[in-house]
Amino acid sequence: MVDKKHSEEAAASLSRRNFLKMGGIAAATATVGAAAGAGFVAGRDPDANVGWGRTEAGKDMYFNREPFRVDKAPCLNIAGPIERPEWGDFLFNRVMSMGGSMHKDGWKPNKDWQQIPDPRVREYYSRYPERWPEMLLSFREKVKHDANLEKHRDRFALAWAYSGAFGTGLHSNFPPVPTAHPDEDDFKWVKREPMEFQSPAHASKLVKQMANKFGMSLVGVTKLDPSFVFKNMMRGMPDWGEEIPKHWKNVIIFGVPMNWDPMYAAIGYSTSFDAYYRVKQASGLMAAWLGELGYAARPQFPGADYEAMMVPLAIQAGLGEATRNGILMTPEVGPNIRLAAVFTNLDLEADKPVDLHMGHFCESCKICADSCPSGSISKADKPDTVVRGYKKYGFNQDSCWRFWQQGPSETGLGCRVCIAVCPYTRKNNWIHALVKESDPRDPTGLTRNALLAMQHNFFYYPDAENYHAEWSGGNFASYHQPPEWLRSENYLKVEKTWEYDGNWEGI
Ligand code: SF4
Ligand code: SF4
Repeated sequence: MVDKKHSEEAAASLSRRNFLKMGGIAAATATVGAAAGAGFVAGRDPDANVGWGRTEAGKDMYFNREPFRVDKAPCLNIAGPIERPEWGDFLFNRVMSMGGSMHKDGWKPNKDWQQIPDPRVREYYSRYPERWPEMLLSFREKVKHDANLEKHRDRFALAWAYSGAFGTGLHSNFPPVPTAHPDEDDFKWVKREPMEFQSPAHASKLVKQMANKFGMSLVGVTKLDPSFVFKNMMRGMPDWGEEIPKHWKNVIIFGVPMNWDPMYAAIGYSTSFDAYYRVKQASGLMAAWLGELGYAARPQFPGADYEAMMVPLAIQAGLGEATRNGILMTPEVGPNIRLAAVFTNLDLEADKPVDLHMGHFCESCKICADSCPSGSISKADKPDTVVRGYKKYGFNQDSCWRFWQQGPSETGLGCRVCIAVCPYTRKNNWIHALVKESDPRDPTGLTRNALLAMQHNFFYYPDAENYHAEWSGGNFASYHQPPEWLRSENYLKVEKTWEYDGNWEGI
């Protein structure tokens, strides 16, 4: 039996221990809280936005990939015979071709995909006839979009102008679109006999630095894998077959994020044109630089000017991995990245791909699929389809494009919700850097489960249908509210008749 004195002493000792323990927890909490506060403040600083302001020194590519290099990218999971992509597999090739047929030739889209004028577009819908109704609906969505533009102009005027400014820059002819045979066109940059590099490693090191100097955040090098080069496509050559020019030896591939705050305010305030403009310019600068040193160059840039698929090439160059939403996932900026590349005959040392277990994260996450307003992203537990021999998550380009028509300004078509909501799409503050470093090293999966629990419980996600335009039953919701510099009521003489739905812009 425990006497009263002992039990009092024990109680006192216990409460002392508890007090000390509580004090320790409180102190630790205060420390972590203070650090979190500092991290939060640092994360709010525009300098924390990877890709903005620090690119010239290359410090945006801060994640050390070396411990994770592998010979073959696990996310390029082969499950059947490998086939090269067709020209029509690229959505923008199809929509630009059909737009041209409508405007130049007076073609009107109708239920019969076999009447599409461009045989390369028909070829695509002969393989995916079930997607034609979605594409057909996109033309109807565009009519509704156009009819509602003026009604919402006050609200989206600044976003419209911001996107339009970059769009105007994007549509300039630099770098010029090829107009002749690649054996001629790619050598137009060449100013002299090739200056010999000390080694391919020296050449790779320097081209990466130059990509940073030209404003790029992330850069890698890979050999050109023919399996990702489009068939039946060569800019400047209308009747090209399957040949790949011999001087297309190596690929310098690079990218920048879209400006973070508008991107988080997807769909209405976001634009891809800012990053598209920057990567396009950089591809031209890189080509001109190579030409000055005597090497051929073939810039690949956004719009319909890619002759190969950028995402798998970026994966092979170790920039990141494949994701559920079909976009490249990088450790620094997640899927918030736009890509361009230059093919060259310069001998370069290739980077190896990486294995960062991002695919495991996608298996448990599904946030993008749940948020997607058009239901275009597979919600399966594992990659559930085979595309050209590679196992992937199913993705419907055509229904995604249909939803793009609900962008509420003329220049800001597009959606990007799947990028905005992805837990990897986070600015470079200490807490996110910590998670990005620890998750690939954690075989238990505890880190990603904890992160996902936080994402699901502490953050507000609008319902998928709320992202829809007002004319389509939604309320123009966005993951974040727009930054102050895109709110028309802060700068223009407009009457504010709307409410914002989404997390406050700072969260
Ligand atoms: S939101 Fe989740 S499932 Fe989608 S790409 Fe990002 S990590 Fe993967
Ligand atoms: S861009 Fe929008 S519609 Fe397309 S897949 Fe992403 S969330 Fe869905």
